[in-house]
Parts: sequence; C-alpha cells; structure tokens
Amino acid sequence: MTEKLLTELPEKFDSVKANFFEIQENIARAAEKSGRSFDDILFLAATKTVEPEVINYAISLGLKYIGENKVQELLSKYDDYHLDHCQLQLIGHLQTNKVRQIIGKVSMIQSVDSLKLANEISKQSKKNDVSTDILIEVNIGREENKSGVLTENLDELIENISKLDNVHIKGLMAIPPICDKKTDVCKFFDKMYKLFIDISDKTLDNVCMDYLSMGMSDDYEEAIISGANMVRIGSSLFGARIYR
Ligand SMILES: *Cc1c(COP(=O)(O)O)cnc(C)c1O
Repeated sequence: MTEKLLTELPEKFDSVKANFFEIQENIARAAEKSGRSFDDILFLAATKTVEPEVINYAISLGLKYIGENKVQELLSKYDDYHLDHCQLQLIGHLQTNKVRQIIGKVSMIQSVDSLKLANEISKQSKKNDVSTDILIEVNIGREENKSGVLTENLDELIENISKLDNVHIKGLMAIPPICDKKTDVCKFFDKMYKLFIDISDKTLDNVCMDYLSMGMSDDYEEAIISGANMVRIGSSLFGARIYR
C-alpha cells in the first residue's frame, strides 16, 4: 500500500460507511415503492479501481456482493478480497480467451452476450468440474460499440445457451444509454423489465429469470421502481473513481 493511500484511508472509511447505509435506505425506499422490500433487492458494489482494503471494509459493514470489470484487475486483487461472506462476480465485458482464468473464482458472470463466449464458459466449467451462473447482457439502447445482444436476437441466444452443460442462465443485465432525463432512462428500464417477464413466462429448461441486473449510482432507484432486483453501485459508495 502506498503511503498516500494509508493517510487517505480513515477518511475514506468514514465516507464509505455513511454511503453504504444511505444507499441501503434508498434501496429500501425504492423497493417499497414497487411493492417489495430491501431483502428483495441484491446490492452489488462495482469495485473497479477500488483498493482491496476499502472493498474489505465495505464487506465488513455487511456488503454481500462485489463485481469487477476486468479480468486482469480481478486477478491482481483476488488474493486480498475477504470472500467468506461475500460473492465475487464479473460485470464487465469478457473476452473468450480470458474465461479460463476466472472460472471457479466468480459466482456469476453478468456480461454474456454471445454463444461463442457461453460455449467457452461451458467448456472451462466442465474442465474444472463446476457450474457457472450467467446473466445475458442486453444492448437495450442499440448502441454501437457497446456489448450486449440486440433484443431481436435474445430469444435465439437464450435457447442455444440453455442447451449447454455446466452453464446456467439466471437472468438479464443491461447498461442503458446515458440519458439527460430520468424519464428517458426509465423507458429502457421498462423495456428490460418487459423482456425479463416475457422470458420468465416461457419457463424454458435450464433458464431461471431470477435476476434483472440494472441501475447504477445515478439511477438505481429508478431501476428498482421499474423492476430491477439487482443494482450495481460504484461511485455512490466508494466516491469518484481514481484511475491510478
Ligand atoms: C462501473 C460500473 C457500474 C457502477 O457504476 P457507478 O456509476 O459508479 O455506480 C455498474 N455496472 C458496470 C458494468 C460498471 O462497469
């Protein structure tokens, strides 16, 4: 740990603690607005750029899920995470050639958007004698250069992945486009919720629509009100990201 970081830590801990409890209250309030309670919503902390000491402090407060974006960063921090009471997930784009490095280390991969990637997850999971839970990432805003499957290809992708061994589809994930108005982002959240319900209603083999993962620091309350049951929160918890 750098000296600079050591002097920053006590203050950092205080703000993380205050943020953690404030976010939980906000989640509870949004959940109640949609006829649910805090316990129905999974609060995952997005930990990219955050030092393991700070992440572990949040875990000591009761944080149960963390998500990293990059395989390399995840592996470099892996031995330092306190994961006895916390699950680690991958939430960022995953390249097929890196799958091998994280199988068995993460409880879920949230960002699966192709059969090729799912195939590799299946193959590597089999090899390691584990099953891997995944979410299908949807490019709900039809943005170029953004990961995620387009809605017209979603059913076919789910059907094909559902046939693979050692991979279980557990729901959907999305990162909607950045919108100036909250009402605009809500339209994307509502579209995602409709897809989530439509797929649930089909009751496909090896497909459980347990999780709808959407909503980040700026819009997690709106996402919950639209039906999300998993939110991924980074900067509201840890403060603005510092890319060291
Ligand atoms: C960084 C990140 C988040 C959290 O973003 P904040 O706006 O800092 O809350 C959520 N999901 C993914 C996939 C991310 O990369």
